[in-house]
Amino acid sequence: MHRQFNIILKTAGLAAWLFLTPALAGEVAVEPSDQGADMLVDTTDDADSRSEEITADAEQFVDASAQDADGVPLSEAVTTAGDEPEPLTILGAEVLPGTSQRLSWAATELFEGVPVSTPVLVVNGAMPGPTMCLTAAVHGDELNGIEMVRRVMHDIDPDRLSGALIGVPIVNVQGFRRGSRYLPDRRDLNRYFPGNPNGSAAARIAHSFFTNVIERCDALVDLHTGSFERANLPQIRADLRNPDVVTLTLGFGSTVILHSKPGVGTLRHAATQAGIPTVTLEAGGPLQLELSEVRDGVKGIESLLTSLQMVKRVRFWGAPEPVYYRSSWVRADSGGILLSDVSLGSTVREGDLLGTITDPMNNARVELRSPYSGRIIGMARNQVVMPGFAAFHVGIQTDESEPAPVDANVAGDAPPDNEGGAYIDGISE
Ligand SMILES: [Zn+2]
Repeated sequence: MHRQFNIILKTAGLAAWLFLTPALAGEVAVEPSDQGADMLVDTTDDADSRSEEITADAEQFVDASAQDADGVPLSEAVTTAGDEPEPLTILGAEVLPGTSQRLSWAATELFEGVPVSTPVLVVNGAMPGPTMCLTAAVHGDELNGIEMVRRVMHDIDPDRLSGALIGVPIVNVQGFRRGSRYLPDRRDLNRYFPGNPNGSAAARIAHSFFTNVIERCDALVDLHTGSFERANLPQIRADLRNPDVVTLTLGFGSTVILHSKPGVGTLRHAATQAGIPTVTLEAGGPLQLELSEVRDGVKGIESLLTSLQMVKRVRFWGAPEPVYYRSSWVRADSGGILLSDVSLGSTVREGDLLGTITDPMNNARVELRSPYSGRIIGMARNQVVMPGFAAFHVGIQTDESEPAPVDANVAGDAPPDNEGGAYIDGISE
């Protein structure tokens, strides 16, 4: 499947590449991924009540344990002809062409000593094609992506799908249960990919997920939201130096695209390094279900599936949005109550007022003004902030030949040790 997807990407990607990346062309090193399979797969469904809601009305998905009980003679179904659809082998199961299954993944190392599994939805199409993966809630408090995965997966008819879709609505199920971005040990799972079977708990969970699920993918869309009371305009974050990644970005229709080099340890970085082109779809903020953002995300993903010829559908979504090759966070220089004067998607000019910070004790007020002309692609909700808080994310209109500056506030350009940059603040995915 890798081969076929690459052909599609190369064909579709050529025009994309010429169109999008005059200044950013460069080799992206692809290293072989770290193979390893010492894991415990629990295909029973022990989803708790919240994840049960999310996977409700799941009649489309055959439960894995039921499939095992039936003892499907998988070898009979295996076809090896080049243009024939093939069973998809994942998590110890074989998903036959033209069928859907709900599997589950559980990492071996768990804090409570009790396996916690999370649903992995698989739709294997009746026609051959690439395997597209959707992951959500790597940060457990980011809910919009969970609903996007549910809507996309349950809207797909396996008989009309070319290739396969793998959807993981809640990767960080422990964080999700607690309404937390983090794992129970306060580690950010999205700093530990591709993981290490002998490392910290986070590294082990990352390794298990990467080897058992992600390595089955030909391409990946990782769904996120803003962090810590910040919301993002729906946007694709992508390393536009990679032609296969560029092709993915073009499929999303009217979605803002932001060039951003992924930080080491993010799923986007690790998967792309393993030869699986990956983009992040950011939409909205944490701890809320925002239906407008969910709809935009679903439209973008379904447009992508159409553009990759995985589904034949009328879903082609409008004219492309501008691509932002640079962006920067405007930070609070003083503490106090932040009130915004702009909203997500606002167009701003250099010097425009973005918001004010008022000291509640002495009523002193400081204005935050935009150092750039551009568009507000992320911003903090009104709240009390400390000095240094990243408040407004401005997508900067540039001459595309302008090189990206080395600035810790610029998305994806955090210094190698990532200190003080977007990576540590959690304002990169
Ligand atoms: Zn996130």
